[in-house]
Amino acid sequence: MRISVKAPAKINLTLDVLYKRPDGYHEVEMVMTTVDLADRVDLWPLASDEIRLECSASYVPDDMRNHAYKAALLLKERFGVKQGVRIYIEKQIPVAAGLAGGSSDAAATLRGLNKLWELGLSLDELAEIGAEIGSDVPFCVYGGTALATGRGEKIALLQAPPPCWVILAKPPIGVSTADVYGNLRLHEGTPHPPTGDMLAAVRTQDFGLMCRSLGNVLEEVTVELYPQVRQIKELMAASGADGVLMSGSGPTVFALVQKEAKVQRIYNALRGFVKDVYVARILGCAEAEILA
Ligand code: ATP
Repeated sequence: MRISVKAPAKINLTLDVLYKRPDGYHEVEMVMTTVDLADRVDLWPLASDEIRLECSASYVPDDMRNHAYKAALLLKERFGVKQGVRIYIEKQIPVAAGLAGGSSDAAATLRGLNKLWELGLSLDELAEIGAEIGSDVPFCVYGGTALATGRGEKIALLQAPPPCWVILAKPPIGVSTADVYGNLRLHEGTPHPPTGDMLAAVRTQDFGLMCRSLGNVLEEVTVELYPQVRQIKELMAASGADGVLMSGSGPTVFALVQKEAKVQRIYNALRGFVKDVYVARILGCAEAEILA
């Protein structure tokens, strides 16, 4: 029996950092939503007591460093599972891009193994285990749209945002989330995103307000390190995007548009500038992500 699980990318509609906590983590406030750019995680039971992982992208680690491997190991040890598993990850989400690809693979592995190993855990329990792997994993366990607080692991689910197209462009650089947070200096003039307005935009399905409320406190830091991020934002805006923002710690930048006619124009403008451009839709609500 094989189980295939969809692992969608996430984008940040807002990302705010409130302060640095005594434990070293940053206290954040983020509105996140899933898009239909996704990896696929396949799981097969193994009679032997081992975890074997392969990934379609050779540059992604296939051992303990892989978040999906960590997820399997955590479940196995915590619940004394004697069976092994073979994991295959078909990568579509760009790596180290600010789209939580690794976290989503870990979450998909948790959901899939819960079924394969008949553990009967709730999503809340899986999310709690996921938080041990990374701050974005709990959101990815639920999928859909949520306000994430704490270090990102406290999830309040929201309704889906107004439907729209998302054009994502990733400049050819990998960004270390730790480096970006390390370079963040919060000061009085730091422009914080209007999280309350974004929540209102989602609640009232106001696409215009959603575009006006996009904001990411890490953008300034990443733009300083990688000026291409600003150039992509400017190109998207000049090509007719309704809203533009960098996702997570970057470097991926996304444009939101409601009219399909604009999608091709923005896509073409970007393709002359960067190779990795993707067109997706906001998924927004958690769908049945276990495919078989
Ligand atoms: P986030 O938005 O949560 O910070 P990201 O999209 O910026 O995530 P990832 O694509 O998850 O970053 O990759 C970050 C690092 O994690 C990479 O250096 C990569 O080697 C490692 N990694 C571990 N597991 C995976 C995985 N399953 N897929 C991709 N990268 C992984």
